[in-house]
Amino acid sequence: MSIPHTEPAPAEPARFTSRDPVTAEPVATFPADDETAVRRKVARAREAARWWDALGHDGRRARLLTWKRVMTRRRGEIITLLRRENGKVRADAVIELSATLALVDWAARNAHRVLRRRAVPSGPLMFNQASTLEYKPYGVIGVIGPWNYPVFTPVGSLAYALAAGNAVVFKPSEFTPACGKWLTDTFTEVVPEHPVLQLTTGAGPTGAALCASGVDKIAFTGSRATGTRVLEACAPSVTPVLLELGGKDALVVAEDADVEAAVEAALWGGCSNAGQSCTGIERVYVADAVYERFEARLTERAARIRAREDFGPITMPGQLDIIRRHVEDALACGGRALVGGPESIEPPYVLGPIVLADVPEDSAALREETFGPVLIVNRVRDAQEGVRRANDSPYGLGAAIFARRGVTDLARAVRSGMVSIDDVMAFPGVPSLPFGGVGASGFGRIHGADGLREFTVPHAVTRRRFKAPLAVSTYARGPKDIPRLERVARFLGSR
Ligand code: NAD
Repeated sequence: MSIPHTEPAPAEPARFTSRDPVTAEPVATFPADDETAVRRKVARAREAARWWDALGHDGRRARLLTWKRVMTRRRGEIITLLRRENGKVRADAVIELSATLALVDWAARNAHRVLRRRAVPSGPLMFNQASTLEYKPYGVIGVIGPWNYPVFTPVGSLAYALAAGNAVVFKPSEFTPACGKWLTDTFTEVVPEHPVLQLTTGAGPTGAALCASGVDKIAFTGSRATGTRVLEACAPSVTPVLLELGGKDALVVAEDADVEAAVEAALWGGCSNAGQSCTGIERVYVADAVYERFEARLTERAARIRAREDFGPITMPGQLDIIRRHVEDALACGGRALVGGPESIEPPYVLGPIVLADVPEDSAALREETFGPVLIVNRVRDAQEGVRRANDSPYGLGAAIFARRGVTDLARAVRSGMVSIDDVMAFPGVPSLPFGGVGASGFGRIHGADGLREFTVPHAVTRRRFKAPLAVSTYARGPKDIPRLERVARFLGSR
């Protein structure tokens, strides 16, 4: 038997290439990180987290605001990458970047106010204690991102996790790794000392490795199916999870709505980013009294919106099959095509908005996420019925309401994480508002004060200031102390 004299050279890591969804030209090639590579990055992040936490809120605020300025200066690079890797038209890329900068700014400026150590009342039973509460970082957060908003969506987690004092290992989608690398590169330009924000690249197996790597929390944004796998992967180690999943958002048009504004909102909400938005409008419920006017105007306006100019291609080739299946099924079960139809699908584009009406509520097109520029418009008796139908979905991410009378009550009746009134997808652009869903749209929040707290552990401390007159939690208490406590409890409990 021959024994080899030398160790075999370690295998080169597998690599993958992202491609322009229109031309299929390669954009960038990256390693597909395996378990060992991911664990190495998490170990380095742990060291970096201690340094970053010790910088304090003021130190981190200064770095994060500088990061924002660097991103602003280097914006030309990311606008180009968003166009090449994702296929976005320039307008969609600029909108995404602008909203991203607002998130970083808000997280940087508000982390101290939201998370700082503060005194809280100790209550009448424990008034001899000084109680303080502080929100401390977890340590290392694993962020797993999607391709549809490859900058805005991960930054909703990254900026808030970093501002809270965590280090992050970030895995962008395998469709948009160069956009992800731009984020970590620009951050490293500002924080060169330690690997506070690291990139790990690859597809599902790399994401699964990050879930099992010993990070202190996973922030996942992606589909419901993958979210379920992430939850399972994190269960054995009891790793906490934030899940930002899909949606099937509805727009409700009341009998007294501004119909013209509602038409424009439905079109932009349904078609911007080629309909590939988690909070994109996929269902429209229009009150009977204004239905004819709405349908006529929407049909006229939708015919003028076009792929290539107004929105880009469908980024993932397989998604076109889902869009086709939903449209064909909706028509087969009685729906009417107002604009476009299956013939509008010409890979990699849906050439213009597809607008369907009278589609049964139990069809795939109304139950599942379509993720394309497809609007389904159904007639309802009034706005209340519109809200009832909007709520009849496993998803519950966002919604939009166009109404005058009673609009606040209508908005409050929607089962979702967010609602825009007289506008569409306004809430993601407000960095002080929490963003996230209910039901199949996931749980946990990014953005806002809740988004900062999501990446922290509340740390509660009590300090005894003086001996309590009623010293009951000690075996050195006297025989009268417990009866006295009972009298106090009876008094407090019956107030
Ligand atoms: P996806 O679920 O296919 O992939 C998301 C990420 O998960 C990718 O980085 C992928 O590599 C990774 N992944 C795949 N398998 C994994 C596994 N087993 N373990 C860990 N990670 C794994 O989603 P997508 O197609 O990239 O994104 C589109 C979806 O994201 C849509 O459903 C959309 O609605 C949703 N989305 C939600 C929000 C939100 O904030 N709620 C925002 C944007 C997108």
